[in-house]
Amino acid sequence: MTDTLNRTAPAANDVGQELRIEGLAAGYGKVQVLWDVSLHAAPGEFVAVIGANGAGKTTTLRAVSGVVKPSAGRITLGGVDITRAEPSRVVALGLGHVPEGRELFPHMTVRENLDLGAAMSAAARARAAETLGEVYALFPRLQERAGQLAGTLSGGEQQMVAVGRALMACPSVLVVDEPSLGLSPLMTQTVFEALKAVNAQGVTVVLVEQNVNLSLKLAHRAYVLENGQVVKEGTGAALLADPAVREAYLAL
Ligand code: ATP
Repeated sequence: MTDTLNRTAPAANDVGQELRIEGLAAGYGKVQVLWDVSLHAAPGEFVAVIGANGAGKTTTLRAVSGVVKPSAGRITLGGVDITRAEPSRVVALGLGHVPEGRELFPHMTVRENLDLGAAMSAAARARAAETLGEVYALFPRLQERAGQLAGTLSGGEQQMVAVGRALMACPSVLVVDEPSLGLSPLMTQTVFEALKAVNAQGVTVVLVEQNVNLSLKLAHRAYVLENGQVVKEGTGAALLADPAVREAYLAL
């Protein structure tokens, strides 16, 4: 990463919306995973959520996108209550979700996977050709590979498709789950640079990551999640300098 955002608040813009989570509790069946998670991302902010395996980061994002139904708490997107809303409605309201493991359709082409991203909202469908051009500008590799089956791409290229598909929905808030998983350092950097560029255009970004060093460098603010609870928050720079964070997550 050549430089970092190195600022504590984003510039005002009319693209990003606020994402707010208050007192979130959720789990799977009888197993409670999240206990009382409160966090927010202001319009245009880049927020990282870090924590050990199993801390509940993915479950938090799944609750936001409506895949997991919370048992308590409240989630709002741009002030609209989306707690327990269906995923299709959440997408139509402006949420883009890049899921853990990418969840592409491997037997469909890159272009077909991207087109699916615009399918959920009439507004996204109406400007799909323009958005596709923006996605190709962000990831020129995807234009070169447009006709190739997604399952035959490298891991890094598949991650680009997953990000591109979420962008095809014209999100005001993009939540991204572990994009660096299994990628080379070079590919990780490419994907992180793209997230930084998307954020610079005003989109609010919430990034869940194991790569604590890179994500804290990119983020305006970050939260540390442990055992389904937020235990710490601060600017990316402050958490990077925090001895407890460094010892737990940076092995320093
Ligand atoms: P990781 O980085 O390993 O994905 P995480 O912080 O994202 O960790 P989650 O994936 O949210 O954590 O998992 C939190 C807990 O919920 C873990 O104990 C996990 O085993 C459990 N869990 C996750 N998905 C399911 C599921 N579909 N059914 C039952 N339990 C689940």
